Amino acid sequence: MKLSVIGTGYVGLVVGTCFAESGNDVICVDNDEKKVRMLKKGQSPIFEPGLTEFLKNNIEEERLSFTTDLATAVRQSEIIFLALPTPQSEDGSADLQHVLKVTRQIGKAMNGYKVIVNKSTVPVGTADRVREMLSRETSYEFDVVSNPEFLKEGAAVNDFMKPDRIVIGTRSSRALAIMQDLYAPFVRTGNPLIVMDERSSELTKYASNSFLATKVSFMNEVAALCERVGADIDQVRKGMGSDPRIGPQFLFAGIGYGGSCFPKDVAALLNTSITNKHEFQILAAVETVNKRQKRVIVEKLKKHYRNDLKGRVVTIWGLAFKPNTDDVREAPALTIIEALLKEGVELRVHDPEAMEEMKKRIGNSVRFFNNNYDALKGSEALLLVTEWNEFRRPDFDRIKSLMKTPVVFDGRNIYDPKIMREKGFVYYGIGRG
Ligand code: NAD
Repeated sequence: MKLSVIGTGYVGLVVGTCFAESGNDVICVDNDEKKVRMLKKGQSPIFEPGLTEFLKNNIEEERLSFTTDLATAVRQSEIIFLALPTPQSEDGSADLQHVLKVTRQIGKAMNGYKVIVNKSTVPVGTADRVREMLSRETSYEFDVVSNPEFLKEGAAVNDFMKPDRIVIGTRSSRALAIMQDLYAPFVRTGNPLIVMDERSSELTKYASNSFLATKVSFMNEVAALCERVGADIDQVRKGMGSDPRIGPQFLFAGIGYGGSCFPKDVAALLNTSITNKHEFQILAAVETVNKRQKRVIVEKLKKHYRNDLKGRVVTIWGLAFKPNTDDVREAPALTIIEALLKEGVELRVHDPEAMEEMKKRIGNSVRFFNNNYDALKGSEALLLVTEWNEFRRPDFDRIKSLMKTPVVFDGRNIYDPKIMREKGFVYYGIGRG
């Protein structure tokens, strides 16, 4: 099949590459010329495990190409995916300017029947808005489909190639047949392709992310209680998670959720609720708890040093909002860095992949180190912010010898408190008694 993907970011690049990998001819479009130049050479602008190999293979096999020329891509495609940003507006709603701008461009470039598929996370009713706009721009036939994306950064290629489920929102049998054909290679093992109307499909994405965010904030609340009553969140988590109605996933307490999706999707669903005169009380609490949680490690540090942080040297391991990605959008590290700089702390930081992205946001306000141990020299506290695998089993004796005072704030509960204390560290976790 011939398809284009408009927007070649974390979602669009993975989607385009994986569709090419399954034998389709894919044109990826982006208005960022630098990105397109890199991609043409087979270089990925993002870090995503397994992506570069697929990218290079499919460029070589001439199934995958990159361009800034949207109109030509549209004319050559029967299916057009939108994988454009839908960032948070001032009032919390999803900003649709990119989606609507591109929709108009597609409308003007149409030269026959097309299926326009929305992969961006968009509020309920967007398919209708896209349809109305296209009708104004073109007299050619088209269908608009909602097909939210559920991939996880850090495991995006695997998630896309082996999805838990595919949600297709459409009432057009013509478009549905095309979508079923396109996705057939991805549902061979029996994973469901769930068909519903566009509005339900659009809401499914927001409800899914908001539910996951609720799990995180719920466990962070339980962790806060654990600290007050002398219980251990890790044991509570195991006890809860073995109930199949609860399940073991997404029950880890920590320093809050971040990333480009959960915060903005929770805010957007809250906005949808307000606009539709429904008070979504649980979700409002989820957001409040998360804002508090992103600062919890700062509060612990302040308490340890009795509010005297000025001039102290502190090391941060991990900047990405989660492991295996270079994405720092809404990362807890950003909140922590900002708060500690305000306190006059001197920060030394390391991340295996996300340092360049962080530099773009905070410049040289902190010192970046290519090696996690170098970042520890003379430090008075280590903050473990992202649970990269390489931080899980470090050389604790080396850490201790490098630090001025061996104090560890483990924002992801990856170290064993008992072992840490035996090794002579002052150890703080999240919700650990
Ligand atoms: P992104 O910012 O990484 O990528 C968006 C791309 O679109 C960028 O490369 C940008 O240059 C390009 N772009 C912007 N305006 C354009 C235009 N007018 N013409 C052509 N290209 C344009 O965003 P993302 O993380 O890939 O997210 C895209 C959408 O997918 C969002 O709605 C997001 O909520 C949703 N989503 C993201 C994830 C995720 O894990 N990142 C997962 C599921 C869904």
